[in-house]
Amino acid sequence: MRVELKRPAWIEIDFKALEKNYNFIRSRIDKKTKIAAVVKANAYGHGAAKIAPKLSQLGVEYFCVSSPDEGIELRRAGIKKPILVLAEVLETQYSEIVKGDLTQAAASLETISALDKLGAKAKKKVKVHLVVDTGMGRIGFFPDQLNEAYQLAKKLKNIKIDGIFSHLARADEKDKTYSYQQLQKFNSALDNIRESGFKLPLIHIGNSAAIIDLKESFLDLVRPGIILYGLLPSKNLNNEAALTPILSFKTRVVQLRQLSAGSAIGYGSTYKTENKEKLAVLPIGYKDGYPRLLSNQGEVLINGQRAPIRGRVCMGQTIVSVDHIKNVEVGDEVVLIGKQGEKEISAAEIAEICGTINYEIVCNLSERLEKIYV
Ligand SMILES: *Cc1c(COP(=O)(O)O)cnc(C)c1O
Repeated sequence: MRVELKRPAWIEIDFKALEKNYNFIRSRIDKKTKIAAVVKANAYGHGAAKIAPKLSQLGVEYFCVSSPDEGIELRRAGIKKPILVLAEVLETQYSEIVKGDLTQAAASLETISALDKLGAKAKKKVKVHLVVDTGMGRIGFFPDQLNEAYQLAKKLKNIKIDGIFSHLARADEKDKTYSYQQLQKFNSALDNIRESGFKLPLIHIGNSAAIIDLKESFLDLVRPGIILYGLLPSKNLNNEAALTPILSFKTRVVQLRQLSAGSAIGYGSTYKTENKEKLAVLPIGYKDGYPRLLSNQGEVLINGQRAPIRGRVCMGQTIVSVDHIKNVEVGDEVVLIGKQGEKEISAAEIAEICGTINYEIVCNLSERLEKIYV
């Protein structure tokens, strides 16, 4: 595909693959369970303003973000469905919750009563989902505090308790013992509310790993993030998942050079040619979110073959060896993440080299890279 770009470095997003991943999730969960698509962090670097409307059109019922400003961005993109802010917020962010008609994760009585006051001022009911900390140790009421928090929040005139949720810390591991303990704590905390004679609001706990491996987590909603984008939450899952990565990160060869034997390449001269070597210069670097940890470690695809990185990844340029690849020309397409012919470089492969997870690799891709949605 040839498109006019300001700079020969871009991200391609495949909407067909997004639809496949969405259909996979639907086929996996129970009929009664709704999907709350997690599009925080600019849809894990994939562009929330484009991804969310597409998912809404496909039938996603709910959206999750990590801060009110992300919620406002979705409203601007035309999202009319409920948007849940998953993280704790400061007072300075409250007004956006009301302005955007967002639903706030409520993890403390202080937040709830502050939102109630704000609702009173705006003559609106502020929607909240109570968070329960069943073992994530991040935010939320402890299971034995939930009933009291629920009763108190219930009395507030300008608060609507729309849901109660918890988050799994280890659903991506083979051994699900910890996840079952979390589920059990969640359920017994909910039972306390039921026993007080209340009908429960929307309850949810499942993330991507749980959708693949833990059917007990299919409650009113599930909250898939990474699998929407076609990436696996870990390689330690028990079940297969038919997913297709929706993102490719591409650039073009901007220059070809021949260096003689014994030449040093890049900052710190960390690579020296043994023989004469043909190299290609790429106009991307760590400023684009292409990790510097790939220096002398990573590979890219050119003409359907792997080309190893030589020397250190620079801020805006990277050098790869094309000594073994025939017919490389200036302007040739280079795949940094994604497929070319039979070969593929996954975000997981890059993450492995960098000692991190695929989540971080895609999230860190620069927002300045142009995105093409096909
Ligand atoms: C990020 C997040 C998710 C989605 O996690 P994935 O592993 O990407 O599916 C779900 N729930 C909460 C509370 C989160 O913070």
